[in-house]
Amino acid sequence: MRANLVKMAFLAVSCLAFTACKSEVEGVSIAPELEPYVASFIQEAAVYGRDVQLENIKIDFASFDNSSYLGVCKDYGDHKEVFISIEYLNKYATQLASRTIVKDVEKVVFHELGHCAEGREHKNSYINGRPESVMNAYALSTQDYEDFHSEYQEELHTAK
Ligand SMILES: [Zn+2]
Repeated sequence: MRANLVKMAFLAVSCLAFTACKSEVEGVSIAPELEPYVASFIQEAAVYGRDVQLENIKIDFASFDNSSYLGVCKDYGDHKEVFISIEYLNKYATQLASRTIVKDVEKVVFHELGHCAEGREHKNSYINGRPESVMNAYALSTQDYEDFHSEYQEELHTAK
């Protein structure tokens, strides 16, 4: 049980309701740097027939106390907030020439939108030694994410 909790914490699972720090988000607010990732998420979902409608959601960067947190999705009931670790982004910002940076960030944004936009929970199963889903509580390797990109998209947008 404890091991499970630790796993769940790794990617900042969330979906926790912090009513005390409730803030109002009317409509959709997305950090400009994250807009392309959100747009790809909606496009990929559409490929699999899923019509993702974002409403009352804020998507931005944040600094986390725990450096193993890459992102978080918080569901407050009346609105949702997705935060991506600014430290994580900065870690890759020095390698902007690398073709993988897009996937490094994308896999985290897609994981959090899996929670916040598609209601997905964690799925920690493995297939042929690699995480079966982007929704694995542990961040999957970018190599796996690139090599099996279409498989991961299909699983993300078609699984219950
Ligand atoms: Zn998660």
